[in-house]
Amino acid sequence: MFIGHFAVGLALKRVGKALSLGLLFIAVQLPDLIYGVTLLTGVEKINIVAGTNPLTSAEYIFFPYSHSLVAILLWAGLAALIFLIAPLKSSLPKSKTALVMATAVLSHFTFDVIVHNLDIDLLGNGAYKVGLGLWNFPPPP
Ligand SMILES: [Zn+2]
Repeated sequence: MFIGHFAVGLALKRVGKALSLGLLFIAVQLPDLIYGVTLLTGVEKINIVAGTNPLTSAEYIFFPYSHSLVAILLWAGLAALIFLIAPLKSSLPKSKTALVMATAVLSHFTFDVIVHNLDIDLLGNGAYKVGLGLWNFPPPP
């Protein structure tokens, strides 16, 4: 589940060699980091149900602020904006840095859609949910 996100961070490191791998890892995990905060504060919710799927007992019932497509687009835009305006010393042009960081954040949505069940919200209002459910098919032991 998490390794796919980190693989994108590693791949993007090749595109933006001057970028910190730590920052790329934060960017690819940003929705999950936000989710940790919103879950602990009760803004977003899960149920713990044994047997939900073979890899996790979490039933994701409400997490539009961290994981909906609209939210992740906004988080990616915010990441790009920060890297456009922040006075960072880098050999990369700011526009390329911003694009790489936004791509890193957006990639989270793609990989979560592949593994999650039908619980990833597109608009954040619960009307349209996607998920291909790859984690229902864990690798054989
Ligand atoms: Zn996630």
